Amino acid sequence: MMKKKVRALALFSGGLDSVLAVKILEKQNIEVTALSFVSYFFDDSKAKVSAEKNRIKMRSVDFSDLHCEVVKNPKRGYGSAMNPCIDCHLLMIREAGRMMREEGFDFVATGEILGQRPMSQNLAALKLIEKEADLAGRLLRPLSAKLLEETAVEKAGLVDREGLADISGRSRKRQFELAKEWGIEQYPSPGGGCVLTEVEFGKKLKKLLDEIENPTASDYALLKTGRIFWKDGTRIIVGRDSEDNAKLKVMQEKGDILVELGDFMGPLALVRGKITEEILEEAKKIIAGYSRHTKGVDYKNLKFTIKG
Ligand code: SF4
Repeated sequence: MMKKKVRALALFSGGLDSVLAVKILEKQNIEVTALSFVSYFFDDSKAKVSAEKNRIKMRSVDFSDLHCEVVKNPKRGYGSAMNPCIDCHLLMIREAGRMMREEGFDFVATGEILGQRPMSQNLAALKLIEKEADLAGRLLRPLSAKLLEETAVEKAGLVDREGLADISGRSRKRQFELAKEWGIEQYPSPGGGCVLTEVEFGKKLKKLLDEIENPTASDYALLKTGRIFWKDGTRIIVGRDSEDNAKLKVMQEKGDILVELGDFMGPLALVRGKITEEILEEAKKIIAGYSRHTKGVDYKNLKFTIKG
């Protein structure tokens, strides 16, 4: 009788550690599906490129709504900006666990490395993640496995412990050596893909959450475009350049108003919220102030077009 192929789901950012974690398992003839999570705050573009270059089968998982709840109320708090990294990572592993059970995969793997991040990847934290994700014995860290307790999947012979690695700490030397040995050349540099780690974005997000209980996908997307001014609970979003202006036009929804200078080039404003004469005056004043063609001119003497 043919032996059933072992199947794993692996969390995948596209970075070197996640590529190596997949490759170690593939070398054991395990069928790996890499999971790249997508939310309002990060996408899968880097992961897609890396998966393609490294011939890894990847699936994108949009968990925006679940992720938003974690961003609003992280049990374990935020990092240096509004990044709830511990809860976010845990949510990804939990979701992978749910998919594993639903789709009959054998285990979940991650590219975590013991001691790489002192707070979130120490021994106690790795054990806690496994427990909280309800994945006892079925969460494998292939890069550090030999330094960790043997998992149920190793004991059951689904994975050969001898073929796993014993990497720990912050040095990347071993990973670079393995990458060279296995001919892995293409992988994005770590970090940089999640706007929640940016302090300025965090301030804008906090303000949005203070003002609006349940922001929509479009509200989150608007945080990434233009300068945002708040007045009496209404947003005036002003384009910084022609690219922003074009985006704001596309993002206009029912109830939003677009305010543009009539006779001059310059930024436009998308106004979202309760629209009053006072708010519209404010929007006109702001865009006139940002246009280099109307410097020194009282905005009251300018023409505007209002589209709603
Ligand atoms: S950096 Fe962003 S995507 Fe990564 S764990 Fe933190 S919150 Fe999640």
